[in-house]
Amino acid sequence: MAEKIFLSPPHMGGSELRYVKEVFESNYIAPIGAFIDRFEASVAAYTGAKHALALSSGTAAIHLALRVAGVGRGDKVLASTFTFIGSVAPILYQGAEPVFIDSDESWNLDPHLLAEAIEKQKPKALIVTHLYGQSAKIAEIAAICENEGVVLIEDAAESLGALYRGRHTGTYGRFGIYSFNGNKIITTSGGGMLVGQGKEDIARAKKLSTQAREETLWYEHTELGYNYRMSNVLAAIGVGQMEVLPERIAKRREIFGWYRELLGDIEEIAWMPEVEGSRGNRWLTTLTFASADPMKIIRALAQESIESRPLWKPMHMQPLFKNAPVYGGMVSERLFAKGLCLPSGTALRKEDIEKITSIVRRAL
Ligand SMILES: *Cc1c(COP(=O)(O)O)cnc(C)c1O
Repeated sequence: MAEKIFLSPPHMGGSELRYVKEVFESNYIAPIGAFIDRFEASVAAYTGAKHALALSSGTAAIHLALRVAGVGRGDKVLASTFTFIGSVAPILYQGAEPVFIDSDESWNLDPHLLAEAIEKQKPKALIVTHLYGQSAKIAEIAAICENEGVVLIEDAAESLGALYRGRHTGTYGRFGIYSFNGNKIITTSGGGMLVGQGKEDIARAKKLSTQAREETLWYEHTELGYNYRMSNVLAAIGVGQMEVLPERIAKRREIFGWYRELLGDIEEIAWMPEVEGSRGNRWLTTLTFASADPMKIIRALAQESIESRPLWKPMHMQPLFKNAPVYGGMVSERLFAKGLCLPSGTALRKEDIEKITSIVRRAL
């Protein structure tokens, strides 16, 4: 039996275990310690974000961004409908009301629908996702939010290292978030980072992430907080992973290139675009079929122990959000019906991609 090929498994660089050993030797096996500071500094330096806060997950980072932005019961929050649940569940944690916005030809949020939704809904914030590592039209989106006084939160969970006009995704908004879950481009097994331009915003998020403890010797609490800090052990893994991030992005882009080279002649296939002026990290190679059923391809690959998946099911189609308003919807519905994510792990070799593409070709 050939070894199973996963969609996007973890890929350690080389320094991670040494750093974790350092944590053990210092006995800082806690949510404090030198590696947390190093990991935050390294993500801030790499992305150009002014301030960074290491957290237990990307979802926690989005929740804190909403809290610090003052989003609460009855507030409306706009969000990309074509995204993963972690992006929008925190809207419900806050008792706020999600309003979903469809994608355009970029597969990411449609700025025209955004302008229309802001006018009608008077939202407090927008959560925009850069899906599959590809940048949304973020400068345009940021300008609309700025003009209308809407807080911009960028869900860059999948797009660490992706650029729009030379600037990192996650650094256009008042807040940006990255995820280090096991399937992301780099991982700490689980974890996230909140970044922001405002020193006070991030200081406030830090307080909320540590049970909102006041600065007294005893435990004094005047407001509700969370236990959302990252462990120093996981931050040590993160510091090691940051060292190989540029290599990982280059490899993901190379894998995308191999798929396109080997399947590019099939007119049935359209690839996720890279919007003009952007450079994605190609976290996952994703495509749509003009007429073929993606489930047929997924089953054919599964028979050879190869994992593949449909694209994200839009949030406005989820039973959890059956009462939430949606602007547009047909673009993401079609992407879900016709789309496919192919294995994109950075340890894959060209032979693996050749095997995968020959199965796809045969199944078609
Ligand atoms: C992974 C992911 C998240 C959530 O990150 P976690 O660290 O798993 O909580 C949010 N949004 C998107 C688009 C993601 O892919």
